[in-house]
Amino acid sequence: MPRARDTDACPGALHVHQAADGTLARVRLPGGIITAAQLATLANLSSQVGSGTLELTVRGNVQLRGIRDVEAVAGSLAAAGLLPSTTHERVRNIVASPLTGRVGGKADVRPWLEELDAAIRAEPRLADLGGRFWFSLDDGRGDVSGLGADVGVQVFDDGVALLLSGRDTGVRVSDVTETLLGIALRFVEIRGKAWRINELTDLNDLLPGVKVGAAFPAVTEGPVGWISQDDGRITLGAAVPLGVLSARVADFLAAIEAPLVVTPWRSVLVCDLSEDVAEVALRVLAPLGLVFDENSPWLTVSACTGSPGCAHSMADVRADAAQSLDPNFAVHRHFVGCERACGSPLAGEVLVAAGTGYRVLRS
Ligand code: SF4
Repeated sequence: MPRARDTDACPGALHVHQAADGTLARVRLPGGIITAAQLATLANLSSQVGSGTLELTVRGNVQLRGIRDVEAVAGSLAAAGLLPSTTHERVRNIVASPLTGRVGGKADVRPWLEELDAAIRAEPRLADLGGRFWFSLDDGRGDVSGLGADVGVQVFDDGVALLLSGRDTGVRVSDVTETLLGIALRFVEIRGKAWRINELTDLNDLLPGVKVGAAFPAVTEGPVGWISQDDGRITLGAAVPLGVLSARVADFLAAIEAPLVVTPWRSVLVCDLSEDVAEVALRVLAPLGLVFDENSPWLTVSACTGSPGCAHSMADVRADAAQSLDPNFAVHRHFVGCERACGSPLAGEVLVAAGTGYRVLRS
């Protein structure tokens, strides 16, 4: 009988998960990038054969819940270009600075993103990488390096640094894709029962002689509101309360017909807008519950799935998190239904359901 740790239980679009509220599928979006047409497809699937909502994950992916027709979902995802590989669908985990190439940063990492995604899909051995291993591409602003991805790069003025588990190695990289792919392949060779680099007992097995420095600071909030791009156009940053986006609101986002980025802070960037279109979009989207105010208390609270979607949960943590909103609360609080503490950010308080209330699991 296989040991539990030998099995990759991470859900995907084809390797679906049976949750307490039905079948769940997770769709990988490398760099969080999704077209308006693709978002419309997800919204339609959720309305027709799912729960009517889309969940944004802390890795910038999207989940469908309560799916009643798994084959229809897989077929529609493939037709929409959201399933470019059936063998590697769960390992296309790449987070990139969401505003890269549009606002600030020391480089535009989107070409690396495309190249890395294609290289991962083209390497048969990486089908065994596991759905929890992820890559990060930080364009120099220090937003995604602090998310603790397994392997990544950060652009500095004097070159591109290699990161392991969100820590600078001091190694400078000349070919980003080749380097990240090489680390991932070596990890597949030596991982044993580990699914993440920080589960290895000795990093020297991965990269001989490597020494890691301090972790990059964790960032718990993404860009929200009216953001002027370097080319004069506008990006609207829309935070999605608790990461739950109704199919109806997703339809409104898709109707703008603009490039979209799902961020690891459970928000959506609507990019490359003229000022006129941005003003109209803001007037339409804000009353629908999307958050454009960087001082909103919704930005300081998050939650795992909890009840009724997760059988492990002691409480309806999303409802409790929503009840707890406090504009004066400075520290990010993450509510979870059990000690697995899914989706916990690397900074802030984690509160776990404990019978009648919550206790601090981590502060
Ligand atoms: S933290 Fe526990 S209750 Fe919450 S989603 Fe994870 S397993 Fe379920």
